[in-house]
Amino acid sequence: MSNHQRDCLTCTRNGNCELQTLAMQFNVTDVEYEGEKTKHKIDDLSPSIVRDFNKCILCRRCISTCKNIQKIGAIDCVNRGFNSCVSTVGDNSLNDVNCTFCGQCITACPVGALREKDSTDVVWEKLKDEDTFVVVQTAPAVRAALGEEFGMKIGTNVTGKMVTSLKILGFDRVFDTNTGADLTIMEEANEFVERFTNGGTLPMITSCSPGWVKYIEMNYPELLDHLSSCKSPHEMFGAILKTYYAEKENIDPKKMFVVSVMPCIAKKFERQREELKNNELDNVDAVITTRELARMIKQANIDFVELEDSNFDSPMGEASGAGAIFGVTGGVMEAALRTAYETITGTELKELNFEAVRGQKGIKKASIKIGDVDVKVAVASGLSNARKIMEEIKSGKADYQFVEIMACPGGCIMGGGQPIKTSKQRSKYDVKKLRADCLYSIDEKSVVRKSHENPVMIKLYEEYLEKPGSHKAHELLHTTYHKREKYKL
Ligand code: SF4
Ligand code: SF4
Ligand code: SF4
Repeated sequence: MSNHQRDCLTCTRNGNCELQTLAMQFNVTDVEYEGEKTKHKIDDLSPSIVRDFNKCILCRRCISTCKNIQKIGAIDCVNRGFNSCVSTVGDNSLNDVNCTFCGQCITACPVGALREKDSTDVVWEKLKDEDTFVVVQTAPAVRAALGEEFGMKIGTNVTGKMVTSLKILGFDRVFDTNTGADLTIMEEANEFVERFTNGGTLPMITSCSPGWVKYIEMNYPELLDHLSSCKSPHEMFGAILKTYYAEKENIDPKKMFVVSVMPCIAKKFERQREELKNNELDNVDAVITTRELARMIKQANIDFVELEDSNFDSPMGEASGAGAIFGVTGGVMEAALRTAYETITGTELKELNFEAVRGQKGIKKASIKIGDVDVKVAVASGLSNARKIMEEIKSGKADYQFVEIMACPGGCIMGGGQPIKTSKQRSKYDVKKLRADCLYSIDEKSVVRKSHENPVMIKLYEEYLEKPGSHKAHELLHTTYHKREKYKL
């Protein structure tokens, strides 16, 4: 503690810091040994992560997570003794090395040395600006974890309270990224069926996890044609909000500001990608994490736990159960199979739960009967598992047709922007399972459980997009990715 920048009042981890807890447990009420402090520059060059090693306690959990769980090795300990610190190749910013912005190091860090790049200021500013029409959309996994920031049980479904809080904060419209997930499935299932029946590149690999997309661009650029051309759900939804919805509501898209609440910090990087723009406009203008939304709710002095429930706004707020399970590993695969099955066979799928792709295993493999054919699928979460699948594909040993990959172990529910659990909480509770159960329960209770049966999708294609994979759909909802150098040195 003598060598720690003790500015708790302005620290994002105030109240959720293992060093604070230890100081309390050991009755440290005074720091007797004021001495020299190591001075580190703050690395805030990336759009996703801020590193402030003036608060680092050198526990090395971030290094272990990056090296052993994600198998990236973007960071390691350098120097000796008093000068020891966590750094990158050549002491460069995380922005300029092989980091994927998965954010798993942030959720492993016990103190405030690692945090997301804060975007709440710009959101507050836009909310106050009467000339801007501010729309917010919330990712599936956010509702399964936001309540934890207000002391609620892990995995409590707080959809209704979350919507109410966003309305109180002043957003002009509150929409659901689950609807965007339905749209992704419409396009992705169609792309898979096309590739499967017309001899396209297989296996097709999902592209909705931006940490994973950055990873494949840096590590397996020669396999990029396996990646689905679909934009991720919030990007697709942003594109539709600034075109179809803006036209319908007579809103100037240049005056529309789309905010995505995401469980992910790589989404902050993703939203800036040039290749995702339409009509020179970003599809999404700001991304805030679950933790940042919780901070905004606290700043507004809203008693979250006591809030009544509200519904998402019409007409873009309806979503299927398939959209909800996007937030958990295997969910995108399951949602896509529900739609692909009915498209290929033309018959109704009776058993909607694909148990073989559920559960917490890092890699799940299954053979799914669709009509007369067996479709081999694989689901991987966590980048070390992604690497195993990619090596299989590279060596020609993989016989899958469809692969889902999520950068974070467990999927978005365990994303780098989700509420941070202490090591004590992690050993006491099965956080992954509790959050996953929340999303599966939302799916079970949904009236519509297949993306293609969502009335919003039916209307959107009738009125605007024509059919999945149409010219218009390609223009707005698809993109291409390119090789990316690991190091900008
Ligand atoms: S990391 Fe913990 S102890 Fe250090 S300033 Fe932040 S809250 Fe305080
Ligand atoms: S964000 Fe992910 S890849 Fe980057 S340093 Fe942290 S754990 Fe490693
Ligand atoms: S996890 Fe946090 S405190 Fe521990 S070494 Fe990494 S940055 Fe420092």
